[in-house]
Amino acid sequence: MSEEVQPEWLEALEKIPLVSRLRRKESLKRFNTWRIGGEAECLIDVVNVGDLALILPFIRKHRIPWFIIGKGSNLLVPDNTWQGIIIHLSGDFKCWEPSEESEDSKNNHVTAGAALADVTFAQRCVPKGWGGMEFLIGIPGTIGGAIAMNAGAHGAETADFLKEVEWMDMLGDLHTTPAEKLEFRYRYSELNGNFGRIITRAVFALNESDPETVEKKLLECQQFRKEKQPYNQPSCGSVFKNPSGDYAARLIEASGLKGTIKGGAQISPKQANFIVNLGDASSDDILSLINTVRESVLRKYSIDLVPEVQILQSAVYG
Ligand SMILES: Cc1cc2nc3c(=O)[nH]c(=O)nc-3n(C[C@H](O)[C@H](O)[C@H](O)COP(=O)(O)OP(=O)(O)OC[C@H]3O[C@@H](n4cnc5c(N)ncnc54)[C@H](O)[C@@H]3O)c2cc1C
Repeated sequence: MSEEVQPEWLEALEKIPLVSRLRRKESLKRFNTWRIGGEAECLIDVVNVGDLALILPFIRKHRIPWFIIGKGSNLLVPDNTWQGIIIHLSGDFKCWEPSEESEDSKNNHVTAGAALADVTFAQRCVPKGWGGMEFLIGIPGTIGGAIAMNAGAHGAETADFLKEVEWMDMLGDLHTTPAEKLEFRYRYSELNGNFGRIITRAVFALNESDPETVEKKLLECQQFRKEKQPYNQPSCGSVFKNPSGDYAARLIEASGLKGTIKGGAQISPKQANFIVNLGDASSDDILSLINTVRESVLRKYSIDLVPEVQILQSAVYG
C-alpha cells in the first residue's frame, strides 16, 4: 500500500496558532447545493478575523491553491480531490447586529456577517418590519455569497441595500468600503474571493415597512419558488445569466433541451435554466450539459450564454 503524500505546506499550517478548526480530506459534497464533487485536502472553518488575517498571508506566501466557499449554492465542485485549502467562514462571521435607535440615525440598518444564511437574514427582517430584501428567502446562500454574486430576484438585488462592506485582502488587511465606491453589476461584484478579496461583513439599509407586509412578501417569494422551480431537487439555481433582453430559460427550452439527461444530471423539465442532480450526478455530467446548452443555443440563436455558476478553481494569490 502506498503511503499518503501530504502537501508540503500542511505541517507549517498546523503550526499556526488558530482557534479555527482545520479539517483534512473533507468531502465537499455537503458544502454545495448540487451535492457533488470530491474531497478537499484541507478545509478550515474560520471563526474570526484574527484567524483569517493569519491564514490569507500564509496562503499567499506558500502559493497554495485556495477558494472561499459560502454555502456552495452557485458552485460547481470538480470530482477529483481539491489539492489546496477551502476557506469556510463560520463563528463570528454569522453575526446579526441591528443598529441602535438614535435621534440622528434611522433604525433600519443592520450589520450582517458574511457567513449568515440569506434565509436567516430574510426571516430576521420580518419582526423589524424591514422590507426590500425579502427575495433572500429563496436564495440558499450566505450574505458573503450574495454580495460576491450580487444575488437578486423579483426586480431587486443585494447591492441596492448595501451601505458599506468590510473585506480582507490577501495580506490580511481589513478594509471598509462604502457601497457607492464598489462596482456591482448583474450577478457580479468586484469583491469576490476570485479576486483575492474576502467579504467579512456588511452594513445594509432596509426599507421601513411593517412586519405583516414584509411577511406577506416573503410568503409570495416562497410560493413563486415552489411553482416555478424544482425546489426539492439538488441544483445551483440558474446555471446561465440571462442575456440582455432575453431569458436563458426561454432560449434553452426553445432549443428543445428541457429534460435532457446526461449521466445523473438533467436539464430540469420544470425550469430549463436549472440543471438538477437526479441522485448520482458527477461534475462532468453537469459540465457536459452546460456545454450542450451553450453549443445548441449558439448554433440556433447566435447567443453565447454565459454561465452564472462559479467553477471551483484556484483563486489568485493576491
Ligand atoms: C435553489 C436555488 C435558487 C437560487 N436562486 C437565486 C436567485 O433567485 N438569485 C440569485 O442571484 N441567485 C440564486 N441562486 C444562486 C446562489 O444561491 C447565489 O448566487 C448565492 O448568492 C451564492 O451564495 P453562496 O454563499 O452559496 O456562495 P458560493 O456558491 O459558495 O460562492 C459563490 C461565489 O461567491 C464567492 N464568495 C462566497 N463567499 C464569499 C466571501 N465571504 N467573500 C468573497 N467571496 C465569496 C465564492 O468564492 C464564489 O466565487 C440560487 C441557488 C439555488 C440553489
